[in-house]
Amino acid sequence: MTFFAENIAACPDCDLLQRIPALGAGAQARCPRCGRIVASGKADAQNRTLALAAAAAIVLVLANVTPLMGLSAVGRHSSTTILGGVLKMWREGQEITALLVALCSMIAPTLHIAFTLIVLLAVRKPPAPRWVGALLRFAELSRPWAMVEVMMLGILVALVKIADLATVIPGIGMFAVGALIMLLAAMTVSFDPREVWARISWMDGPPLPAATAADGSERKDAADQTEPTALRQGLVVCSACGLLTRSAGRDDPGSCPRCGEALAFRRHGAIQRTWALLIAAAICYVPANLLPVMNTAMPGYAEADTIMSGVILLYESGSWPLALIVFVASVVIPLAKIIALAYLLATVQFRRIAGRAERIRLYRLIEVVGRWSMLDVFVVTFVVALVQLQPFMSVEPGAGVVFFAAVVVLTMLAAETFDPRLIWDENKNEEDS
Ligand SMILES: [Zn+2]
Ligand SMILES: [Zn+2]
Repeated sequence: MTFFAENIAACPDCDLLQRIPALGAGAQARCPRCGRIVASGKADAQNRTLALAAAAAIVLVLANVTPLMGLSAVGRHSSTTILGGVLKMWREGQEITALLVALCSMIAPTLHIAFTLIVLLAVRKPPAPRWVGALLRFAELSRPWAMVEVMMLGILVALVKIADLATVIPGIGMFAVGALIMLLAAMTVSFDPREVWARISWMDGPPLPAATAADGSERKDAADQTEPTALRQGLVVCSACGLLTRSAGRDDPGSCPRCGEALAFRRHGAIQRTWALLIAAAICYVPANLLPVMNTAMPGYAEADTIMSGVILLYESGSWPLALIVFVASVVIPLAKIIALAYLLATVQFRRIAGRAERIRLYRLIEVVGRWSMLDVFVVTFVVALVQLQPFMSVEPGAGVVFFAAVVVLTMLAAETFDPRLIWDENKNEEDS
């Protein structure tokens, strides 16, 4: 039996089944158990997002072709674009770091904006073909890797670091990056994927009215269980399009009738994969902090800076707020993220029930702040790209930066593979008794 209902949703964070009320513009529906926003009413979502995405596309081009900043010292000038920073890192033998910087500063924002534009144009005449759903999925997957705001802070820290040595002139590119941050944030706020999915044609034919079936099954189970979750009802949420359907079976839930994605009650191997990624991140954290991330060379003088000595240098040069920001982003956040995820995994494995609301808040915090640890990778990239005044002075990336980048990527992937619904799942024995 196919079951689906547009007005019933399972919370993505705790799996609780709930009816989504009709929402006016600006209204939000929160999960009563864990507090996650499960739906929000958005006025004219598609046209607004389309306008913002079109503006973002123009600004993105500007941000990429115009210089971010220029530097002049002892009668020499140099300037860099985003691509210039990437190419410099590549030529210095930091290919992996260069690719990561390219991904977070150029590729992911470009894909996100381009896919969002295509999707919004394609769904103007519903039903849109199914490939639109696949593009929407890619648009959402590329969003967390678009770290334009982290890059901006990285550029600012790089400017302060260089300001002692030379005169730095902010370029047009920097203002374009600032505008791009605003536009990307506005796109995220105004976009409504539920509305877009509703306009995409289904894999298994058109939807059937199922409101009565949904009402009946929910009422029946709500009576004998205080907290009806999708899992207990044999319902499953599609990880791609968010559709709630009745699963084909306990062991194999089948595939999503709307978008065709393979369904799973919980992310496959969530615990094992997250542990593996976390252990790898913890191993990389050691060389990331011990090896130098930046080597400065001047005639008769050479210096190798680790992350920590870079922080101290910033502090001594009088910019203690920036020193604090770099310290928190580079040293505290990665370590806190590894410890917090290990704690969440351990409590899930020991089936702890106490403190669930606190643990889900901890998980959300990890997801939000994790990206900021990319900061130092951007700082190194732009300092290296700009300070090339041979033979007077030059800066090269150190071996530590690739380990540092690895820590950021591994912890981001670990947060993504972890399934927050595991925190809320009941003990199996408890359920039987
Ligand atoms: Zn919830
Ligand atoms: Zn689906």
